[in-house]
Amino acid sequence: MTYRYIDLHCDTIYELTDHPDKGDLLRSSLEIDLEKLAKGGALIQDFALFVDMGEWPDPWARYQQLLGEFRRQKAKYGDHFRQILCAEDVKACEADGRLGAMLSIEEGGVLGGSLERLHQVYEDGVRLITLTWNYPNELAWPNGTEGPDKGLTEAGRAVVEEMGRLHMIVDTSHLNDAGTREVLMEAKRPPVASHSDARAVTAHSRNLPDDLLALFGEKGGLIGLNFSNHFLGSPAVTSFPGRDDIDFSKGPVQVSLLRDIVRHGMYIMDKAGEDVLCLGTDFDGIQPALEIRDASEMPRLAEAFLAAGATETQVEKIFSGNALRYLKEML
Ligand SMILES: [Zn+2]
Repeated sequence: MTYRYIDLHCDTIYELTDHPDKGDLLRSSLEIDLEKLAKGGALIQDFALFVDMGEWPDPWARYQQLLGEFRRQKAKYGDHFRQILCAEDVKACEADGRLGAMLSIEEGGVLGGSLERLHQVYEDGVRLITLTWNYPNELAWPNGTEGPDKGLTEAGRAVVEEMGRLHMIVDTSHLNDAGTREVLMEAKRPPVASHSDARAVTAHSRNLPDDLLALFGEKGGLIGLNFSNHFLGSPAVTSFPGRDDIDFSKGPVQVSLLRDIVRHGMYIMDKAGEDVLCLGTDFDGIQPALEIRDASEMPRLAEAFLAAGATETQVEKIFSGNALRYLKEML
């Protein structure tokens, strides 16, 4: 059987904005386009508007540019999907099987600490915000930056509280451990870590330590499996059978292996329970050397989980069940 799936993170809009030569939302050379999503069984795809504050000194202007790109694609191909704005939209996708598209912001610095801007992005259709990327901002501190004074800022707390009131989803991926713990402990509504793996399996500050995995389970949040080779810890290889599209001419390449995605997934289920795990592929935002070539090959991940001993019920929960439950409750 093909499992329909929900993916909480991709950077496809960023790619389409900066590299129009790669194609458009319907068909492209990227890892995600509407044709690949249909083939792979996507039920809901989140599209992140990712702002790199190191590159863009005016994050708000860059956000507008990315939003404009999403709107252009929606104007062309909006009949292929339903934009997810509330729980009713999630239920409608579940009922008729039509693709849902959700919009998120990856970099809370876009808000500049302003609740007015938060209200504006809500009006724009954004329903999830990743509080930080890899820089400190007005709201919080990024992964790898720890200290007793490095929880959320006052503005960060106000934004999280207002997001709860608006039924927006708080995303702790990229946030430091102190901030993640604070959001989990204090927020009235549990957050997601939309694209993070397990630190005990691969020691990377973007991955979640065991106590936070357990806390996500306790509080009813979600953790989306990230396909990045850095977070999965896949080994560097000098060749890959059947894959002449991967360039090994410059030396060994870390190819994200299905085996390692499953290893992290099984570990997270063990520590957080089976109601927490979902998918946050990070397609089009990570090194393009993946055993799962693109979104059209997602059924291979279900097969790999089953082969590793996951039950059909667990695979159904990872692919869509957990995220469906959460989105219907939180939006
Ligand atoms: Zn990211």
